[in-house]
Amino acid sequence: MEVGDIWLMDWEQVPHADMIRSYWRICLPDRIPQALLWVGPEGVGKSLAAWMLTKTLLCLKGPHIDPCGECQDCRLIEKLEHPHLWILPPLREKVMLEEAVPLFRQQLQANPYLSLAEWELLLPETKGSLIIGVEAVRRLQEGLSLAVGKKQWRVVWFWHAETLTRQAANALLKLIEEPPQHTLFLFLASRTEPLPLTLRSRCQIWRFPPLSREELEALEGQPLSSALLALAQGSYGRLRRLRTSTFEPYIRALQMWLRSLLQEEGDPAPAIEKLLQAPQLSEILTLGAILIREHPKLSPTQKLIGMDTLLRMADEIEAHLQPALLLWEATLLLRAKWADPKLEGGWIAA
Ligand SMILES: [Zn+2]
Repeated sequence: MEVGDIWLMDWEQVPHADMIRSYWRICLPDRIPQALLWVGPEGVGKSLAAWMLTKTLLCLKGPHIDPCGECQDCRLIEKLEHPHLWILPPLREKVMLEEAVPLFRQQLQANPYLSLAEWELLLPETKGSLIIGVEAVRRLQEGLSLAVGKKQWRVVWFWHAETLTRQAANALLKLIEEPPQHTLFLFLASRTEPLPLTLRSRCQIWRFPPLSREELEALEGQPLSSALLALAQGSYGRLRRLRTSTFEPYIRALQMWLRSLLQEEGDPAPAIEKLLQAPQLSEILTLGAILIREHPKLSPTQKLIGMDTLLRMADEIEAHLQPALLLWEATLLLRAKWADPKLEGGWIAA
């Protein structure tokens, strides 16, 4: 599926749907936890799963594992516009939640695998890193204090909950300790360590593993090369990004370059020329280090030398050193090192 397509909301589109459905079946209808903490790498479909789970709760005929998809509530959830769904994405200081949330809805609808870095690029340039701050939590508290119908569920998403500030997390603790009725707090996080233990201990934790080759290929609808699979690292969001024009041609050039370093292909010049056109060369070189790590023909020592060379080069390019010079130097160095028979077997004696 391409960015911009409409995401029909159905379990079939949700990676790890079997796992989620089996957990959720145990919770429904009356053992729904107050707070869920979903942990897993970016791009494995946590947002999509949250979207679907919210639909099962807010559907007029719900809570039910398979929402009807036809009622007014289902329709509003599909557009992420249901009044009982609260979304708290991380923001920079001084960006207003009211302005950011409509943008967030729109972006997530276009790409439910949206990454934190992609989201950051969409926000107005102000200072500071992205956080879910205490002000957002206070507003949520106010909103949730308003009464709703007895049986009506409310769902709160903390998107990238690892960005909650300490102060915000503390404010939330009170809310979760004396929770409003029929409210599910859903924390989506790529890491848990930044969250205080007091908060984590009040959540039921579900772990989202990286996606398998089969799952990624099913989502993409076609077989994937080993290089692309190695680079995607089990994340469909990352895979989608790698397939864009910012990356794909340069990953091919990178592979060509590596083949020439291994003397499988003659002249490295065309590959180097192409690499020099890459808008994000240091990032491409970091990807190259992953390709080297996964390369079946290199010994552990050769991998170490190769990865070290590429990562150092990525740093030096960030520091504005001449990329053409660096690439040619690395080419000569690695061609010599990788051809050295002493390095073939593995570790050299120190
Ligand atoms: Zn419905």
